Amino acid sequence: MTPHLFVLFGATGDLAAKKLFPALYRSFGDASGVRVLGVGRSDWDDAKIQDEAAGALVESGIEESDARAWADKTLTYARVEAYDELGPVFDRADEIEASGETEGNRAYYLALPPSTFPGTITALGDHEADNDRAPNEDGHQEGGWTRLVIEKPFGSDLESARELNAVVHEHFREKQVYRIDHFLGKETVQNLLVFRFANAMFESLWSRSHVEAVEIVVAETNDAEGRAGYFDGVGTMRDMIQNHLTQLFALTAMEPPARLDADGIRREKTKVLTSTRAASPEHAVYGQYGAGEGKEAYAEHEGVDADSKTETFAAVQLHVDNWRWQGVPFTLRTGKRLKERLTEIIVTFRRPPVSLFNSAKDGCEPSPNVLRIRLQPDEGFRLSFDVKAPGSGFSTSTQHFDFDYADAFGDPPDAYETLLRDVASGDTTLFVHAEEAEQAWRIYEPLLNADMTPEAYATGTWGPQEAERLGFTLDPATP
Ligand code: NDP
Repeated sequence: MTPHLFVLFGATGDLAAKKLFPALYRSFGDASGVRVLGVGRSDWDDAKIQDEAAGALVESGIEESDARAWADKTLTYARVEAYDELGPVFDRADEIEASGETEGNRAYYLALPPSTFPGTITALGDHEADNDRAPNEDGHQEGGWTRLVIEKPFGSDLESARELNAVVHEHFREKQVYRIDHFLGKETVQNLLVFRFANAMFESLWSRSHVEAVEIVVAETNDAEGRAGYFDGVGTMRDMIQNHLTQLFALTAMEPPARLDADGIRREKTKVLTSTRAASPEHAVYGQYGAGEGKEAYAEHEGVDADSKTETFAAVQLHVDNWRWQGVPFTLRTGKRLKERLTEIIVTFRRPPVSLFNSAKDGCEPSPNVLRIRLQPDEGFRLSFDVKAPGSGFSTSTQHFDFDYADAFGDPPDAYETLLRDVASGDTTLFVHAEEAEQAWRIYEPLLNADMTPEAYATGTWGPQEAERLGFTLDPATP
């Protein structure tokens, strides 16, 4: 593993404890030459961050003695007054680097509220320039590399994403920038590329000639309670659809890349997003959860206005104006407090041109072939097809081919582990390019600018019934 100093802004926060400390341990626990410098305004010191991180590791299932040894060996803390006044960070970083252990390489990870991004990025960029650490035109950097990792959300609309990209590019080259969408770190999301481009059987059917419709479903059972202060006014469209679901959409719909590298893949994702028509309010439905299962409604959460129009559910139909997908609807939907936790890409194939059979179940035309690519909770695939039902005549019965990722390979690593290793090795393939982020915002601009009123839905259902007008059945288990 490449030695480096991992500077974690927002080390006192929720993401650090829940995801980043465990991922740092699992990615670099055995590596020498990797040190972590946590940064925060909180009155912490080295001992405190070591205690907190060790506690977080134990919480995530790591043995206490291993957690403690790693935290004590690896972690230090720098306290700042504000995230654009970084003198104490650079002093501490210089001290750590003086041993030569980290070889002058630095990853700056912004696990901070997005309001702080421009100030922090500017302060980091100025420091790089003042210390002659900025790379030259060929990307070569004297005395070790610098990489900038930015958590989501990247902007809140097209204009703010452009402004943030402008700040980033004033100080860093695109090759140094790692915009996180943690869905891209999931094994099964990456497996979409292998599944599509290593199996000619599926890829040859992957177009308007054979595909009737594609659904991308991310159903959550959790709610916004406890983080309503952040979520209210942001909503599911910005929090989930513009980033996570749009990444799944891009990987499902993109053309094969010319090369399997960051440029090749990100170019194709950007291209398909560019070909995607801007979403229209007529092809979108918003929802907001009401009470149910003994829990209060969204509008009753602390910090939420009783008449809040923030959506906790959104469904939107997208159309891709290119040769492969013209006329095929892609419906993206996600919501909170739904019936089950589930992430699936559902590809429904066209029926045979002539129907010769009826289903034994209901005497109707047999179901179309459906491929379900499940990303959560049990990663795998299910392909449905029809066979002859036993008995006289030619009635059909729907059966399945199943593949379970954990059965075949054991549990996949956490997304953040994969992404942190990629930052250290300089691979930007699984990160979002500047143009891609802007294109993803462009698609949803008409919805962000429209006055969308969310439909009420009860906790523990699949969302508002109204969403079915977009042409799918709310319960994803029902074909
Ligand atoms: P937190 O709200 O926990 O904030 C992180 C740290 O930032 C805090 O510990 C605090 O540190 C500092 N901070 C908080 N508010 C402010 C403020 N108004 N101005 C300046 N500093 C502030 O955030 P998370 O850890 O939950 O998230 C960090 C980033 O990661 C965000 O961009 C978020 O969108 C993203 N993210 C988070 C996920 C999660 O599960 N938590 C999931 C996916 C992405 P101190 O007071 O010590 O300075």
